[in-house]
Amino acid sequence: MWAGITDGTALPSGTVDAVVVGAGPAGWTAALYLARAGAAPLVLAGPTPGGRLMDAGPVENFPGFPEGIDGPVLMARMREQAERAGATVVTLDADEIRYAAGDPSARDAVHEVVTDEGTVRTRAVVLATGSAPRRLGLPGEAELSGGRGIAYCAICEAPLFKGRDVAVVGGGDTAMEWVLALAGHTRRVRLLHRGERFRATPVLLERVRSLDNVEIGTGRVVRQLLRGRDGKLAGLGVEDTATGERTDLTVQGLFVAIGHTPRTRLADGFLTLTPTGHLHTTGPGGATDLPGVFVAGDVVDARYRQAVTAAGAGCAAALETTRYLEGVHS
Ligand SMILES: Cc1cc2nc3c(=O)[nH]c(=O)nc-3n(C[C@H](O)[C@H](O)[C@H](O)COP(=O)(O)OP(=O)(O)OC[C@H]3O[C@@H](n4cnc5c(N)ncnc54)[C@H](O)[C@@H]3O)c2cc1C
Repeated sequence: MWAGITDGTALPSGTVDAVVVGAGPAGWTAALYLARAGAAPLVLAGPTPGGRLMDAGPVENFPGFPEGIDGPVLMARMREQAERAGATVVTLDADEIRYAAGDPSARDAVHEVVTDEGTVRTRAVVLATGSAPRRLGLPGEAELSGGRGIAYCAICEAPLFKGRDVAVVGGGDTAMEWVLALAGHTRRVRLLHRGERFRATPVLLERVRSLDNVEIGTGRVVRQLLRGRDGKLAGLGVEDTATGERTDLTVQGLFVAIGHTPRTRLADGFLTLTPTGHLHTTGPGGATDLPGVFVAGDVVDARYRQAVTAAGAGCAAALETTRYLEGVHS
């Protein structure tokens, strides 16, 4: 809950100009721009108001905060700014989005966003539902993430492990990039990969192999997360898949690079997906096949997945939405 702000669930009865689905950096920024353009957006904040940064410790790469800023604090500020500008926030999940009425080609379509508490009619939708990192699925994983040892973003959290021993799980390009980033900050990096062969680009793999403080373990699966007296990650129980032998590794950080799943369920049946499972866009600002529906942030982005790029995409989606709405009104 945010100081001074009451979370509501009441939906407006008439047709609104814009609904923003999602309340991470992309959603809050889209809401801010739409509100300042006079579209009085309704934000459906979903299961995690604030989005993935609610799991983050200090965010040190969001411009404007030279000392860094805690992820939840940054999200509270973004929300406050959007609300001050005129956005309304409800803590509901969108269960379905459907095209309701009007001629999409004439830019007068009306969409319905369905929630548990009722349906809201809107001329435009910005979909910013983010993505979820794939997890190992081990006991204790959730408690040990968020600054307690397990991380899902090396660009974000590598500097927090300066001089420590860490492990990276994964076998693709992301895992290699993370090892390269971590090797410069940490004492030692152990790369653990379930298979015997890496999927990563050879040049990245070569760079990883050339580093003195990296140990590569193929045919290795993390079976157990070991906790220290301070409640933080202290080590890993690792199994050799060929022999079944188990070894305990002492590490203070574990970076899980086994992929992301974009949250696209709401678009099932009406928006196209890319081969990576992200939402497909047809033009600038996250335009989609369906006029009046724009998409932004990690749900679209297979490559960068940063708070600042999500915020930038939210801005672009709001500007395109505003242009679309101006066409409707003129
Ligand atoms: C631990 C961690 C640390 C990170 N640190 C950094 C960092 O230091 N710097 C950096 O730039 N990036 C960092 N990132 C990455 C950054 O958090 C993401 O790139 C960014 O949050 C993506 O923003 P988004 O708005 O697209 O999605 P998200 O932040 O994922 O937000 C998605 C929103 O959609 C909502 N939603 C989902 N489904 C529904 C639904 N059905 N109905 C309504 N709402 C819904 C959720 O409730 C949530 O509010 C970190 C990520 C993690 C996990």
